[in-house]
Amino acid sequence: MKCEIGHSETISSQRRKTISNYNTLISGEKIKRTIFAYLLIAAFVVQSAFGQAVAPAIKISSDEKKVAEGVTAKQLSDYLYFVASDEMEGRDTPSRGLDTTAKFIGMNLSRWGFKPAGDDGTFYQKMALKRDAIDPAATSVEIGGQKYSYGDDIVRASGNTTGKMTAKIVFAGNGWMVKSKNLNPYAGLDVKDKIIAVFGEGPMGGRNLVPMPAGITQADLTGTRGKDWADATVYARENGAAGVMVLSSKFLAANWGAVTQMFGRSRMYVDKLQQPPPAAQTGPAPTVFLASEKLANAVFAGEAGNPLTGYTNSFELTKDFNFSISTKSETTWTQNVVAVWEGSDPVLKKEMVAIGAHYDHVGINPNAPGPDKIFNGADDDGSGTVAVLSIAEALAKAPKRPKRSILFVWHCGEEKGLWGSEYFNKFPTVDIKQVIAQLNIDMIGRSRKAGNTEPRDKDLTDENSIYVIGKDMMSSTLGSVVDGSNKAYLNMTYDTRYDDPKDTNRFFFRSDHFNYAVNGIPVAFWFDGVHVDYHGAGDHADKIDYAKMEKVTRTIMLTMLKLADLKERPKVDKQLPPELSQR
Ligand SMILES: [Zn+2]
Repeated sequence: MKCEIGHSETISSQRRKTISNYNTLISGEKIKRTIFAYLLIAAFVVQSAFGQAVAPAIKISSDEKKVAEGVTAKQLSDYLYFVASDEMEGRDTPSRGLDTTAKFIGMNLSRWGFKPAGDDGTFYQKMALKRDAIDPAATSVEIGGQKYSYGDDIVRASGNTTGKMTAKIVFAGNGWMVKSKNLNPYAGLDVKDKIIAVFGEGPMGGRNLVPMPAGITQADLTGTRGKDWADATVYARENGAAGVMVLSSKFLAANWGAVTQMFGRSRMYVDKLQQPPPAAQTGPAPTVFLASEKLANAVFAGEAGNPLTGYTNSFELTKDFNFSISTKSETTWTQNVVAVWEGSDPVLKKEMVAIGAHYDHVGINPNAPGPDKIFNGADDDGSGTVAVLSIAEALAKAPKRPKRSILFVWHCGEEKGLWGSEYFNKFPTVDIKQVIAQLNIDMIGRSRKAGNTEPRDKDLTDENSIYVIGKDMMSSTLGSVVDGSNKAYLNMTYDTRYDDPKDTNRFFFRSDHFNYAVNGIPVAFWFDGVHVDYHGAGDHADKIDYAKMEKVTRTIMLTMLKLADLKERPKVDKQLPPELSQR
C-alpha cells in the first residue's frame, strides 16, 4: 500500500497543476483562449486515461470462454481425489507419495503434448536434499561398563556433537537458576566440560524441555539471561558445560516413542540452497540428550541419591558418561515438475507466462490425535495442483495456441520453506528473464457456507469470493489484467484485504510467488483463506467446493491467456515494497 499512496499523490499533484493552468487561462479571457483551455482539459483527460489504464480494456470472446470451459468441476474433482488420496501419503517432501504425484502430473503432460522443461529433456527438475542423520548402529552410551543403545535409551534433542565424549556428570535439580528468587542449583558445582543432568518434569510440547519450576513466572526472569537467570541449556552454554541430559519424567517415559521420533528426526536441507549456520551466540551450543528411565537409573545407581526416586540436592556423580556418536550424511532427491506450452507468435513465444502451485503437503504425523494420521492436503495445495493441471489440459485441447508460451511449474517443498520455488528461481531450467508474470494458486477449493459458525472458518471466503494478493505490487498492467479478466467474465469478488505489505498474517511470504517476486517477476496469488482444516488431517477432497474451484480456475486461465496475448509484456513500474522483499 505504501507504493500505491505514493502513486496517487503524484497523479493528484499533476492534476492540481493542470487545473491551476486552466484557471490562469480563463482569467486571461477570450473565447479563443477558452477553446484552448478545453483542448488542454481534453488532452489532460486523454493523457490521464492513458496514464492509468496502461492495459486495454479486457473483453472475453466466446471462443476464449469456450477454452476456459475446458476446465470443469468434474475434471478437478477426478484429479483431486487422486492427488489427495491416502495412497499419496500426504505428499511430504521428500516422499514416495510426492514422487508418485510428480509422475502422475508428468504422465498427463506427456499425453497432452507438452514440452518437458525440467532437467535433460524430462519434466522433472531434480533437487538434492541432504540429511545429517545419526547412525544408530555406531552411536551408543556406556555407563559403568554397560552399553545403552541410541533410540531406546538415549536421544540427541539438539546440538551437533559427534565423535567420542567422556565427561563427568553433575545433577542440578531442574536446572533453573533465578537470582531474583534465590534459586541456584549450581551453587558449589563446577560444570565446565561436564554433563548437567536435570530432571524434566513437564510436557514436552512447549519450547522448553525443562519448564520453569512451580512458583516462578516470566516476571521473575529479570536482568540478563545467562547471568541473572538461566535454564539448564543456557547455563551450560554460558559456563562451558559439555551437554545437558534431561532425565526421564513420567511424561517422558509415557511418550518416549513419540518424543524420540520428534527429536530423533534429522535435519534436512536443500544441498544447493544451504544457508551458513547461524553464528553461535556465546560459545558452542551444548548438546541436549534425553535419557530413558532405564539409563537414568543406571546413571544414579550407587550415587548419593537418585532424582527418579525423589532426591533433589545437587551433586557431582562419581561415574563417567561415555558417549560415542556418529552421523552420516545422506542424499535424497525430490523434484519440481516443469513443462512449457509453446506460443504461436514467432517472436513473442520466447516470453512466458508462468503458472504454478505447490504439489507437496506435510505428510503423515503418527502422533496426530485421532485415527486419521494422513494429512491429505486436498485444499493445501491439492487444489492448486489440479487447477494448474486442468488448465494445462484445457490449453492443450484448445483450437489455437496463445501468442506467448506458458510455463507450468509444480513446486515441491513449499511447506518446508518454499524450497522448490527458491530452487527454480536460483537454478532455472528455462530463461527466467523471459517470464513476464507468475500466477500462483495455493488453496482455492474451500468456501464458507451461510450459517457456518465455526470460528476457525471466519476468514474463509464464500463460494463467490477469493483473496487475491500481490497483483498490483509490481506492475499496474498485471493488476489491471487480473482485475479486468475477472470483471469481464464471472465477476467474482476479489478480496484484497491481505494485499498489504503490513499484513500481519504475512501471506505474501507464505507461498511460492514470493520467490518470483524477489526475482523481479510480477506476481498474483489466489488463496481461499485459512480454515478449520488448514494443516489438519481433515483437509479432504470431499470437503472441496468444486463449483467454486471451477469458477476460480477458469478465471485464472483467462487471465493467463490475456497476459499471453498482450502486445507488450507488463512493465514492472513499481518496486516490491522493501518490507516484502525479505522473508
Ligand atoms: Zn500449507
